[in-house]
Amino acid sequence: MIWYPYQQMKTMRAPYEIVDAEGVFLYTRDQKLIDSVSSWWSVIHGYKHPALNEAIISQVNRFSHVMLGGLTHAPVQRLSQKLEEFLPGDLDCCFFSDSGSVAVEVALKMALQYYMNRGERQRTMILALEHAYHGDTFKTMEAGDDEDYHFVLNAYGSSQHVVHIPTDTGALEQAFSRYHERLNCLLVEPLLQGAGGMRMYDLSFLKRARELCDQYGVLLIFDEVATGFGRTGNRFVADLVLPDILVLGKALTGGYIGHAATVASRKVFAGFYDDDPCHALMHGPTFMGNALACSVALKSIELFENQDYMSKIHRIEKVTRREMAGFSHPSVKEVRIMGGCVCVEVFDPASLNGYQQFAYEHGVFSRPFLNCMYAMVPYVITEAELIQVLDTMKAWFSR
Ligand SMILES: *Cc1c(COP(=O)(O)O)cnc(C)c1O
Repeated sequence: MIWYPYQQMKTMRAPYEIVDAEGVFLYTRDQKLIDSVSSWWSVIHGYKHPALNEAIISQVNRFSHVMLGGLTHAPVQRLSQKLEEFLPGDLDCCFFSDSGSVAVEVALKMALQYYMNRGERQRTMILALEHAYHGDTFKTMEAGDDEDYHFVLNAYGSSQHVVHIPTDTGALEQAFSRYHERLNCLLVEPLLQGAGGMRMYDLSFLKRARELCDQYGVLLIFDEVATGFGRTGNRFVADLVLPDILVLGKALTGGYIGHAATVASRKVFAGFYDDDPCHALMHGPTFMGNALACSVALKSIELFENQDYMSKIHRIEKVTRREMAGFSHPSVKEVRIMGGCVCVEVFDPASLNGYQQFAYEHGVFSRPFLNCMYAMVPYVITEAELIQVLDTMKAWFSR
């Protein structure tokens, strides 16, 4: 049997079975659904995209995968070259892996070893945000701040190596002045904290973070697994404030195949580049640099650039703001909009019980969590389809 994610198997309702998918639509046997969550925020070009399909199929006909240990190939070379050009600043050194969680693990391992290689052995502490989510593996659970994982902390005792602060400049400054000698890195989901509840915060926090990291020699890591490729209305938040390490996942392959990248600056890379074999980065997922993933990621980035996706995202934000203007309800705490993300936060999560089925009946696939009803639509959505998604969200409260 299938053990489904994030669900009590005993009480979960049966998942919808998808038999086909095209553009923004998922098809069950009897319903056509707009995927308002882009399959966990990844399917930015929609399903069954002809150019993405073609990129994979032509690579399948050469080879699907070869290991990156001792071997290399054109798709991974072209993708790293493309990312080097596409990403801001000197974020030039791409370490590939198969999922966002692993890519964050790699970033944390990189940051730790960076200081160990320099002999700064006291720098082991991670500064992270309250409500952070960085993945489901052990170190990312520890860096995250998700109540669902607190059983881990209960089992092992509270972490000596991670401190969580709110997205408040005062708290940031305090943490730096208190811990700076031990601080290894500041790890954040920049501007938009996704799985922690679609929380949005101000750029000034990140600007101050960059200054403090520079002042105290601490590495700044942006986990843009969710925010990368336009979701916040910026290509990358890294375009606005440059981190030392950038993590990409989810939309990297247009949602076709799990793949992720931990992209280091030249400075971080230089901390490993040495005659000493002990200074090498000891990591190597079996499927890193998978040729199908790299081929489709390359095509995905080409589409993003050539078809002016940023203007599509700005249009989504504009329509969303227009349609949600003036919307309120006694059970709604706040409506938040940023780029291609809209969240209706309710006071009581119970007021969202039944929404998923309601949305299904209105031709929308949605998956509320915590006290958030949200949409992160594929960027290829039409205005009419987007309005259908937003109308469905609003209709739930006036039924
Ligand atoms: C989804 C997500 C991850 C984990 O990525 P997986 O591919 O699911 O392992 C990490 N960080 C952020 C911010 C995410 O949204």
